[in-house]
Order: sequence, then structure tokens, then C-alpha cells
Amino acid sequence: MPSSLIRGKYILTAAGDAGQITTLSDAAVYQEDGLIVAVGPYDELKARYSPDTELGGPSYSIIPGLVNSHHHGRGVTTLQMGTCDDCLEVWILAGWGRRPYDHYLMTLYTALNMLESGTTAVMYNHPQTAAATLKEDVDAVLRGFLDAGMRVAFSSYLRNQNRVVYQDDADFLSALPADLADDVRRYLSVGHMSDDDYFAFCDEMRREYHDHSSGKVRVLYSPANAQWNTDEFLLRSKEQATRHQTGIHMHLVESPYQKDYGIRTWGKTPVEHLHDLEFLGPEVSFAHAVWLTERDIELLADSGATVCHNASSNLRLKNGIAPVNPMLAAGVNVAMGTDSTAMNDDDDLLQEMRLVNKLHRQPGLDAPAITAEQVLSMATANAAAPTGFGDQIGRLEPGRRADLLLIRLDALADPYLDADVPPVEVIMGRAKSRDIDTVIVDGEVLISDGQHRRVNKADVARELREQLALPLDPATLATRQMAARLSPYVERFYRSHPPTMANPHYVYNSRT
Ligand SMILES: [Zn+2]
Repeated sequence: MPSSLIRGKYILTAAGDAGQITTLSDAAVYQEDGLIVAVGPYDELKARYSPDTELGGPSYSIIPGLVNSHHHGRGVTTLQMGTCDDCLEVWILAGWGRRPYDHYLMTLYTALNMLESGTTAVMYNHPQTAAATLKEDVDAVLRGFLDAGMRVAFSSYLRNQNRVVYQDDADFLSALPADLADDVRRYLSVGHMSDDDYFAFCDEMRREYHDHSSGKVRVLYSPANAQWNTDEFLLRSKEQATRHQTGIHMHLVESPYQKDYGIRTWGKTPVEHLHDLEFLGPEVSFAHAVWLTERDIELLADSGATVCHNASSNLRLKNGIAPVNPMLAAGVNVAMGTDSTAMNDDDDLLQEMRLVNKLHRQPGLDAPAITAEQVLSMATANAAAPTGFGDQIGRLEPGRRADLLLIRLDALADPYLDADVPPVEVIMGRAKSRDIDTVIVDGEVLISDGQHRRVNKADVARELREQLALPLDPATLATRQMAARLSPYVERFYRSHPPTMANPHYVYNSRT
């Protein structure tokens, strides 16, 4: 039974719900076979246990492994693949002509990137790809995550309505030139899956992976978003998730147009609609949730649902800033993720934490400002909650799995650091992924000295480079041309449905 004693100058064991944090000095974690047996003073644990190996030392801080609570696995990013940042609804359309890629290599590459920057678990949401190869694609994705050693809460989303704009497909297509409408119909049919086929696919995935021998996979259900799924589909997801005691992960009110869809379709916000359907609950996590009313926030808090905040993505895709401070004040479980669209076009959750920490600092002495402790909690325990690993990861305490990071303090304190600066502020304010020395998942050292121990990243990058150097296939080129031709019609639709954006939660400047 492999065991190790992992020592740190500081151990930030748990970032509490109320923004508190437990910090131990000159302490250690003792783990056996991936299970944390004890956390406490180094000298005591050293005397009590005889570990196979000893890691860390007095020049490290130890924190729980980070959890990226919303991700689509795009290691070679959408920008690299040709889709520049734009308004979400136009950006999605531009993605239709994206180059096909090798799901295994892409996942392995993104997993290595995430591990290097301290992410040990991910809520992976598979995009709606060709139905004919879906199972093959997701098998490759999960093989990639498992080969990299990451934990993964897997889901695959399905849109079963309003797939071009937020309007019935037939109505929208009927206003297009006939040949363009035919091309779009043909394109949509490739990704089409019936509801029955989707739930049968989820059953198969659950049987195959939910109790995978690695213990590192959970399988969740995923309606794509309130405007992209019928009520029947939403309720069936809820019923299946309840029956199989698993979670639901979906996008929600990412953009003002999505909120507007709710108002004109149901006469209420999408959150109110989900509340009225009795869909909300602690097993449900929502990516984005930028366009929330005060009532929405109350409903989310009362239900115990999680909001996965994606600060970079929201900025990049012109969706604004989510009301994280009001959500935290109301008691919503707020997690965070990168949506594969992080600020530096990488999946560096440490940097994303810094962005979140700076973004939610409202002007004025007494205005709300998120704390470093709250941000750490959002990237650890809060993010773990909806993954299905909630009671196993996110905190460093006996009985949980040994997923943790050793952060080198030397560069952070060089040439000087006042001894009174709290360790959590040092990490939030100064740590970069290059300061992450060791990444441990389930007690196994996956990254040491910045290198993955099982997989040679240079080989993965070389293979990707070779594959992606091939010329674009004619079918992808044709789809790209179709999307470009369709784009003005999509823009015209959204211009004719201007959303209401009055009374913001945050005020960052003023013209009066
Ligand atoms: Zn997303």
C-alpha cells in the first residue's frame, strides 16, 4: 500500500463556506493508497507513521487540488482553431466549421495543461458532435483523462430545439434562402439524436464508467440550456438523475439573449421557469448564470444548486460579469471554471482565480469585494460539490482522497515577503503555474518539476501538430462557408430581439 507524508510550511486544508480558511503551519498530510489518513503537525505525523516516501518540505504551501467546474476539453483552443472571440451567439455559429480533431490526443493535451496549472478534477461537458461517432468520441475523451490521471465528472450535452437561433428551427429556416436552409438542415441532421437515443447513451455511459475501477469518473446528465431543450427533456433528465443519484450539468442564462428568450417564451426568467418545473436542486449545476435577477438568485440559493462561474469566458464572449458577490451573499454555492476559454487562452485555473478575485471588487469603501478565501473555496470545495466527488475531494481532511498541490514559496517570497501576509493572499496574489512543483491525485504524484510522470507532453504535442498540419477537408470548408453565409441572418434575428439590460447588479462607472 503506497503511502507518503507530504510536508508544507503551510497547509490550507479547507476554504470554508463563510469565507474562512483553515491554515496549519509546519504541518503534513499522511496518505495511504490515495486516502488521507491524517493531517496535522509535521513532527507528530512523522513520529506516528512510517511512509514509503516523504514529499515537500518547509518551503512549500499545500492546497487542495483545484477543480475546474466547467470545461469542454479544447486543449487546442477555439481561437487556435480559427474562431476569434465574439458575441456568444455569433461565436457558436462560427464554431460550426471547426476542424475535426483527435479526441484522445486533444483531451490528453488539455488534461496535461490543466494538471500543470493545478487542476486535478474537471467537470467535462462534451459538445454535441456527430451522433454516429459520439460513443467512440467520448470513449477517446475518457481514455485521455484517465491516461493523464485526472478525475472527471463527465456529461455530454444535447440540444433538442432552437439549434440555430433562440427560435424554433423550422420557423427560422423558413425565412432563409431555400438552398441555404437545405444546407443547414443537412448540417443539423449530423448531430441529431432523439431523446430516447440520448438517454440510452447516458445509460450506457453510466454502466460503463460511473463505477469505473479507477474511481475517477462520474457520469452526469446534460440538457444543453433552458432554451435549447424542451421541458419534456429537462424533466426526463431530472427524473433520470434522481433515479440514478447523479448530477445534472448545463449552461444557463449565459447571455442577455438567453434571458430574453425566457421572458418572451414563458413570461418569466429561465431560472423561474426551471423553478416552476421543479427542476432546481442540489444535484444541478449551472455554467455561467450571468443574467440573473434578484429573485433568480434567491431561487438558486434556496434550491442548493451550484453556479459555475466562468469569468474569462463571460468577458471574451461579450456576456458581461456574473453577479458573484450577490450570489455568495445569498448563500448560492458558487464554483468556478474556465469553459475552455480562459483569459490567456489556456486552462490555468490559478490565473482564473486571480481574475475572479480582482473582478468582483466593486467600487467604494463599503461595497462588496470577494475575498481570497472565497475564491479558493470556489475553486475547491464549492466546485467539487456538484461533481459527484463532493465528499471525497476539495478539502484536505482524513477520509478524503489525496488530491493536492505543492506550491513552491521561494519565488513568491523573493526577495522579500512580510511575514504577516496570510498564506492564502500570497497564493491568490502571486502564485503562477510555474510555482506549482508537485501535483498529486489519489496519492499518486502526477506532476513533479513541471513534468507529467506518465505521459510525455512533447510527444502529444508533436502528434497533434502533425495531424493539425493536414489541409482542411472539403466538408469542413463547405460548413465554414455555410456558417459565414448564415451569419448575417443570425445577427439580424438577435438585433430584432434586443434584450433588457437595465439595473445592473454591479456599477463600475457612471456617466451622471
Ligand atoms: Zn460551456
